[in-house]
Amino acid sequence: MAEYNPKSLKAEEFINHEEILETLSYADAHKKDLKLIDEILDKARERKGLSHRAASVLLACEDEEKIKEIYDLAEQIKKDFYGNRIVMFAPLYLSNYCVNGCLYCPYHAKNKHIARKKLTQEEVAKEVVALQDMGHKRLAIEAGEDPVNNPIEYILDCIKTIYSIKHKNGAIRRVNVNIAATTVENYRKLKDAGIGTYILFQETYHKKNYEILHPTGPKHNYDYHTEAMDRAMEGGIDDVGIGVLFGLDKYRYEFAGLLMHAEHLEAVHGVGPHTISVPRVKRADDIDPDEFDNSLSDEMFCKIAACIRIAVPYTGMIISTRETPEVREKIIRLGVSQISGGSRTSVGGYCEEERPHDTEQFDVSDNRTLDEVVNWLMRAGYIPSFCTACYREGRTGDRFMSLCKSGQIQNCCHPNALMTLKEFLMDYASEDTRKIGKAMIEKEIDNIGKDKVKDIVRERLVKIANGDRDFRF
Ligand code: SAM
Repeated sequence: MAEYNPKSLKAEEFINHEEILETLSYADAHKKDLKLIDEILDKARERKGLSHRAASVLLACEDEEKIKEIYDLAEQIKKDFYGNRIVMFAPLYLSNYCVNGCLYCPYHAKNKHIARKKLTQEEVAKEVVALQDMGHKRLAIEAGEDPVNNPIEYILDCIKTIYSIKHKNGAIRRVNVNIAATTVENYRKLKDAGIGTYILFQETYHKKNYEILHPTGPKHNYDYHTEAMDRAMEGGIDDVGIGVLFGLDKYRYEFAGLLMHAEHLEAVHGVGPHTISVPRVKRADDIDPDEFDNSLSDEMFCKIAACIRIAVPYTGMIISTRETPEVREKIIRLGVSQISGGSRTSVGGYCEEERPHDTEQFDVSDNRTLDEVVNWLMRAGYIPSFCTACYREGRTGDRFMSLCKSGQIQNCCHPNALMTLKEFLMDYASEDTRKIGKAMIEKEIDNIGKDKVKDIVRERLVKIANGDRDFRF
């Protein structure tokens, strides 16, 4: 039997099944222990995070009053570390060719009725122009795993194309990459291509069920998949994004696994994950989410987000358009720092007038345009941020984390959010959004701590109004 060791590089030792089972029994045994829960909450208030065990007790707790305390603390931690900013991004689907057999994904190799499509570089350029015309600056590229149709060279070509397109005042300034687990050498190539975060969802941390859910193809190899982030870091990528596809397995198991993965990255590489994504499995061509029988209520989903926020305060949290506007609103308050907007989950979808379904990966539950999402966020008191400054200024990995931990990062993020929002308002917003945004920027300038920074931001906002672009701290 494998022994639990967060410092090990072996999947079964750092995501240790026995340790997760013991954690869940411990959480069950203590979920009514209000004294312990108070101690855990006190520790969480120090804002240095919680272990997977302590956080699992909070997740299991059923006491209404304590749950309210958990939510209040998550909200407060979110405010302290992320202010009222929400970073915006969009997924860009490059190819749905895939050799894997994932039972929850319509791109699985045996699905013969989904149209297969891979963008040419000309088509990538067209998609990027469409995304720039919406106002996006940050993308997450997505592709199935297919060494013949989507080799690393293809992905690298696409990244190059994406960064090269300068349409009107537009630019994609950060490309995050969500492709299948690969080799250290390939991760190095992605790093050299100037990617932001490498994102890979674990799907499920439960090895046995993972193997059942991935019956065929290279993704079947649980260890190779689970150890991918260590290879990515060895390849020089120091911003990695982890996630679970909630609904595939028991959420408490996944929650403990996620936090153990974060602890492992911190223990081995000195830096935890840059982001955690919380997707839920959705209906799609060929896919009925009810088949997995592990769906969780919106309420529990929000509680998970709150507990993640408390357990890893410095880690960004991402929510996609898999969720409805109602769930997004609630979960943003509890800790999410990045959301997608105006998304199309089909290959070539941004160039189509209507949302196409034939190559779509999953049903989108938030169908609003980016302008509508931006407008909605501002009405709810959030600053939509199109900032991409950190990695361009070399603030990645442990450098980013130490700035985050000292609170210094706020001096960059807040002004950058205002300046990039101003760009959006000038170039892409509807009249109503522009009006709300203008008032928001005026009000939020006062929340910049340093007078000198305030003056610089005011100056730059005028310059942006006069046509200059891409200022950053
Ligand atoms: N192919 C890559 C891999 O193997 O990791 C990643 C790209 S895939 C396009 C992105 C993610 O979509 C997957 O990791 C999975 O979690 C998610 N996904 C797949 N099917 C889904 C479904 N039916 N509903 C919601 N999300 C789904």
